[in-house]
Amino acid sequence: MQPKKTDEILCPNPECEYYLKAEGKAIVKRGKYKTGHQRYYCKHCGKYFMETSGTAIYRKHLSKDKIRMIYRLFLEKNGIRSIERITGHHRDTISNLLKDTEKNEQTEDYLINKIGLTAKECDKLWKLLEMKKGKSRKSPK
Ligand SMILES: [Zn+2]
Repeated sequence: MQPKKTDEILCPNPECEYYLKAEGKAIVKRGKYKTGHQRYYCKHCGKYFMETSGTAIYRKHLSKDKIRMIYRLFLEKNGIRSIERITGHHRDTISNLLKDTEKNEQTEDYLINKIGLTAKECDKLWKLLEMKKGKSRKSPK
């Protein structure tokens, strides 16, 4: 039996044998960061990491199928509200998922290998996310 709280936490260390692997992982809670974030420890590689480091999207209470659907709809340029209407998920869930999708190798790996997006779709996703971020941060010139 694994403790429930760490079920969705996977090791974000690419050097680790259990990198992003759920099966056989050994991750335990070890204190907290000053920021209040839960700190985790991977017994396999001996690294500490924050719950948000590369794990943000795994913590979402969404199945892979649903995550895939949200990304696909987003890739088809659907807005948050239409994704909400189509999937029935709350717009906060959807926008948090997109907001937490950081461009890095881990996420790309996850999206391609676990979620089933193609590399091309990933590229497009990064572009769309960047545009989205740019819009919300800066006012248009
Ligand atoms: Zn590890």
